[in-house]
Amino acid sequence: MPPEALRCKECKTEYPLDARYVCERCFGPLEVKYASRSGADADELKRRIQAGPHSIWRYADFLPVEHPSSALAAGWTPLIRADRLAAELGIGELWVKNDAANPTHSFKDRVVAVALARALELGFKTIACASTGNLANAVAAHAAAAGLESYVFIPSDLEEQKVLATGIYGTNMVAVRGNYDDVNRLCTELSGEHEWAFVNINMRPYYAEGSKTLAFEIAEQLGFQLPDRVVAPIASGSLFTKLARGFEEWLEAGLLEGSLPTFNGAQAEGCAPVAHAFRDGQDFCRPVKPETIAKSLAIGNPADGPYALDLARRSGGAIDAVSDDEIRDGIRLLAQTTGIFTETAGGVTTAVLRKLAQRGDIGPQERVVAVITGEGLKTLECARGTFEAWEIDPNANSFEQARERQLTTA
Ligand SMILES: *Cc1c(COP(=O)(O)O)cnc(C)c1O
Ligand SMILES: [Zn+2]
Repeated sequence: MPPEALRCKECKTEYPLDARYVCERCFGPLEVKYASRSGADADELKRRIQAGPHSIWRYADFLPVEHPSSALAAGWTPLIRADRLAAELGIGELWVKNDAANPTHSFKDRVVAVALARALELGFKTIACASTGNLANAVAAHAAAAGLESYVFIPSDLEEQKVLATGIYGTNMVAVRGNYDDVNRLCTELSGEHEWAFVNINMRPYYAEGSKTLAFEIAEQLGFQLPDRVVAPIASGSLFTKLARGFEEWLEAGLLEGSLPTFNGAQAEGCAPVAHAFRDGQDFCRPVKPETIAKSLAIGNPADGPYALDLARRSGGAIDAVSDDEIRDGIRLLAQTTGIFTETAGGVTTAVLRKLAQRGDIGPQERVVAVITGEGLKTLECARGTFEAWEIDPNANSFEQARERQLTTA
């Protein structure tokens, strides 16, 4: 089903499939429009998928790229049945999609792989991005693998682990004295002055399509079935809304049966423009100045906020916010019940999952998927001070004494 055009999400004006992202008529965002898939041969589609590579490119029929390629394979991450966490929270059936298991340890490898493949088709020699951290990491790595020059723009107060893990790829790293929204404004200006493919600005319609592959994988890994509920984090709202689009496209193509899952969005209290608009019954987001440990979600002016609100409402879900302490607890809970160490964004998701369970929002028969989007080693500071090693002398006596002390204080 080849892509046909870029189309304005608001006024439906169509544009050619080049590097553009905003409607000239109404300033609405553009998205990729495909030929209709109703009446498609679902068995044939399924065979093509199952014969495909173990990466996002097994879903090439649903992506806006003619020549799927990436030197760094993204996707095909584990979907893990999380019975111990389910028991802890009183949930019937719980799965964790561990997208930390990507080449640069976050779900951003999916969106960058698609944007970069399209950028190569359009003849770009340089790729760039405005990032909250993980995107810079993925752009730097995928550019290195493809032999392209890259520029990554980040807020200067980013976690050290993310900065180090990005600089190593030999990118041009620009640390902007400001928050993500300042970085994004600057990059929007620069994208008009340089012939660069900014993956999340002028390439955004293609970039956003990469997130659908998370939904495709979840459905395929469940045996071509839908979950009942999806809990996922929201920064700009792109991932959240494109998860739903992925399920909708497979419903239309006949690869899935049933109805759209309930969507629960997760934000940090310190940057919760979408959760607060949901709470207040508004259909737009009031921009905020982010102040949270969940830096990868720290977008104060989320581009897809209104669409995320609409999705949560029409699917019977919600968008909730959790405090920094709840985020740290969420990271620990996930680690101690599943063996998965996630970054702060995953702590947000886990903490919101816990909140939903406590509130009684989750039915006993529901099949729930929590989307874990990044790796704990990138936000190590959150683990500091949460435990203590027993420091001992190198003899058995010292160990037994320490253990005794431990048992009596426990
Ligand atoms: C970027 C990011 C998200 C979500 O981003 P959207 O802008 O909402 O698509 C979620 N988790 C992590 C770890 C991220 O880096
Ligand atoms: Zn328009």
